Amino acid sequence: MSERLRLARAHFPVTSLGYGHRLVLWVQGCPLACPGCIAKDTWDPAGGVAVDVADLLGDVRRAVLAGADGLTVSGGEPLRQAAAVGSLLRGVQELGAAFDVLLYTGFELDELDSAQRETAELADVLITGRYVATAPTGLIWRGSANQRMHLRTPLARDRYTDFIEYEPEHPPVQIEADREGRLWWAGVPNRPETKRALDRGLAALGYSLESTSWRRQ
Ligand code: SF4
Repeated sequence: MSERLRLARAHFPVTSLGYGHRLVLWVQGCPLACPGCIAKDTWDPAGGVAVDVADLLGDVRRAVLAGADGLTVSGGEPLRQAAAVGSLLRGVQELGAAFDVLLYTGFELDELDSAQRETAELADVLITGRYVATAPTGLIWRGSANQRMHLRTPLARDRYTDFIEYEPEHPPVQIEADREGRLWWAGVPNRPETKRALDRGLAALGYSLESTSWRRQ
């Protein structure tokens, strides 16, 4: 039986979670319970959908053909499923494309066990550390000031060096309607007020962002 990864959602193209146009996978299940987390729907390890890693690799191949610059793996906590994420990232490496992998984890590097470290080392870019609501930041793609961006490969250094200290005026947040007309959003609204303003503005228009979305390619 092929390996399976439990996912909360997947979207392509996403322009608000890393360099360029990306396939983003939100992995289901997170044990870290950061106070103020805006992704509580991803905490339940039994939630989401179980998907074959082989099928996800097919999605990555289709995204590459459609011009994707990279894959972002977010959560939830991706390293809670280190074996399946590792299989996926090994498959991505075999594609050989100029395609970077950005992996989010709420763990610090020195908290990882050997399997988690092995998987983390397959990423070009790692963003590490829990969300700390009392440490707001303007740094792009990070939710709080303690979170660190690690550039592990030449491709990562080429694409991301200018972003390590970059603070945009507004954090990139993308809002889209799916094929069924439901809204989904992606990004790191690094202040709780931003997410609340997003919710209020859309609620005024009659939309809710509370439900989990799911769309394979
Ligand atoms: S690590 Fe991320 S998903 Fe998990 S509780 Fe913290 S902010 Fe939420």
